[in-house]
Amino acid sequence: MVERVKLSNGVEMPLEGYGVFQVTDLAECERAVADALAVGYRLIDTASSYQNEEAVGAAIAKSGVPREELFVTTKAYIHQMGYENAKAAFEESLEKLGLDYLDLYLIHMPFGDYYGAWRAMEELYRAGRIRAIGVSNFLPDRLMDLCLNAEVVPQVNQIERHPHYQRPDELALMRELGVQPEAWAPFAEGLRGMFDEPALADVARKHGKTPAQVILRWNVQGGVAVIPKSVHRERMEENLAIWDFGLDADDMAKIAALDEGCPSMLDTRRPSEVRRVHDYLKNPVLTSL
Ligand code: NDP
Repeated sequence: MVERVKLSNGVEMPLEGYGVFQVTDLAECERAVADALAVGYRLIDTASSYQNEEAVGAAIAKSGVPREELFVTTKAYIHQMGYENAKAAFEESLEKLGLDYLDLYLIHMPFGDYYGAWRAMEELYRAGRIRAIGVSNFLPDRLMDLCLNAEVVPQVNQIERHPHYQRPDELALMRELGVQPEAWAPFAEGLRGMFDEPALADVARKHGKTPAQVILRWNVQGGVAVIPKSVHRERMEENLAIWDFGLDADDMAKIAALDEGCPSMLDTRRPSEVRRVHDYLKNPVLTSL
């Protein structure tokens, strides 16, 4: 049974969900989301830039899962920043998803006129069209600045986080600001041998679990929400089976020692990365690190 966390505005969000980045074939995406809902995921994470919101919506519509049980997240990309653009982007995403409200709407990247977009999102939030609003990929300085200047403090910050990039100081700051952290790419997409880390294998063996399950458990046990992606139903089930065991202090110390302190996938402090994400829709190069 997936636990839920209360966001700063009292809305409950599942601590584990299902993400659909890079599932660009719409038929495959619809099938994958249908499988994810069938095996028990209730939080679905997409984005306008993933270009699969229609497929997510189609799977939701056919699933028979009551709308109030679902927690649907999508994101506005850089070209959708600014007040008017963000309002239009919201309507477009909602239409594609076939929904009449969103559970969580995120600013995908801290670039462009995201303050204008935030004002639009605050209005939509106050009008009851979005249950929670947040950001993604906001480093501490940007997050602090937005928190100090926004009327509604972001309820979530979705960031790259996995055993090789643990970001303890940023998590502490989010806790202080009342911003719920959510880990994207909890497996770093398997980069840098994530699934073959001996320390993870040791912990997994001890609990009769897999390294993937240990990574997810480590996140949720630390209060960080996770949105693993798999197009394989058996892996979806594996990734969901993390609510029947716990990691102890020894396990946590072993995992803490894996922190390399730098991203495996996205480093927006690098100008080349800012250019890459800016041009992403024209040239979807997935990672340049
Ligand atoms: P993940 O870290 O979730 O890794 C996904 C990869 O791991 C896939 O190749 C998948 O393969 C494989 N995998 C999944 N489960 C297992 C398992 N149990 N054992 C072995 N391999 C497994 O990467 P994502 O980049 O997809 O991140 C997850 C979600 O986070 C995204 O889908 C998206 O929703 C969100 N995200 C947000 C970003 C942002 O900027 N806000 C950026 C990137 C992601 P297969 O599918 O073949 O099973």
